[in-house]
Amino acid sequence: MKNSSVKKIAVLAGDGIGPEIMVEALKVLRKIEEIFEHKFEFIEGLIGGSAWEKYGEHFPKETVAIAESSEAILFGSVGGPIDKQMEPKWKNCETNSILAIRKKFNFNVNLRPVKLYSALKNSCVLRADIVEKGIDMLCVRELSQDVYFGKHDTSGDVGSRHAFDEMSYDEKVIEAIAHAAFKAAQLRKKKVTSVDKANVLNCSKLWREVVTGVAKNYPDCVLEHVLVDNMSMQVIRRPGDFDVILMPNMFGDIISDEVSVFAGSLGMLPSASLNAQGFGLYEPSSGSAPDIAGKGVANPIGQILSAAMMLKFSFGMNREHDAIVNAVEKTLMDGFRTGDIADGGKFVSTNEMGTRIAENLVKELLRG
Ligand code: NAD
Repeated sequence: MKNSSVKKIAVLAGDGIGPEIMVEALKVLRKIEEIFEHKFEFIEGLIGGSAWEKYGEHFPKETVAIAESSEAILFGSVGGPIDKQMEPKWKNCETNSILAIRKKFNFNVNLRPVKLYSALKNSCVLRADIVEKGIDMLCVRELSQDVYFGKHDTSGDVGSRHAFDEMSYDEKVIEAIAHAAFKAAQLRKKKVTSVDKANVLNCSKLWREVVTGVAKNYPDCVLEHVLVDNMSMQVIRRPGDFDVILMPNMFGDIISDEVSVFAGSLGMLPSASLNAQGFGLYEPSSGSAPDIAGKGVANPIGQILSAAMMLKFSFGMNREHDAIVNAVEKTLMDGFRTGDIADGGKFVSTNEMGTRIAENLVKELLRG
């Protein structure tokens, strides 16, 4: 398939393991270019502590310009060791870089797929009979409203203090995220589970009503509503029954972390943040893992799968996305493991894992 247009991609590797795992994602993307005859232009920029070292700030205007002139952002991770958070280089690093970039581009949709690869069944915290059905779900979390963005206050004297946090949602915002969830479901198993607390909260009552209305546009999809307290339990009891899980910001924050452990390691998980124009930032769900940075042992799969999501959601390259997912699956089936998913398989470095996935990309396609 010939595609002559060059896709401009901002590559912001960041700190810690970010640059190490980014190299592997780019290796896989170069292979995709070769096989599918695409052309990617990678424009590298500094962000986080690495930007602070050169520019004295975490998200300098040079990096803003790179992101603005690109069609998608491939992000690594930012931040320093927890015990050094007060040093100028690391102070407010995450807020000034990743939160700032999310705000700058108004990312309001967060997509986090959680898939337990069959080769990693033994690494899952759940019982074998529970994971037997397979786990492959997509968390769709609203990012721009909810209790995090309302008024917050604490008043009064110690002993009689009062605190409040205001929760609010606009109908239009719910509508937009619901459409994103149903569109994603149409590419999957066509089931949406919407999570709320509609038995108590007005925001959730509105959420439920609007989501139910949006569902009428997607007659090919099934919609169910589950209260968040029940959901936190059901998702563990019967994870194989869920496909797309649609959640407001706070419930999404909690449930998406809860289900992330099903994949066997944080290092396995990709994510995407999209805005209303479809512009996207793609990053692994983990942080910069300073404890293992520079040792060549980080798992690059979350970063590689983030690159795969970029191909699908920013460039509509579904085959290319699937090819990467299949190559990851094949590499795991062959028994190769980084330390975080070690289960007696063949231990490989970050570099070797990336190389094997890129090689399997070719082999799998030749086979097909
Ligand atoms: P972390 O996600 O970086 O690490 C948690 C644990 O998971 C560590 O033991 C780490 O070694 C392991 N781990 C993470 N990714 C791995 C991978 N790919 N392969 C193997 N093991 C992996 O979380 P943390 O230690 O709480 O935070 C470290 C820094 O990352 C902090 O400065 C924090 O602010 C930052 N952070 C950044 C982001 C982001 O850039 N979006 C997100 C979360 C945390």
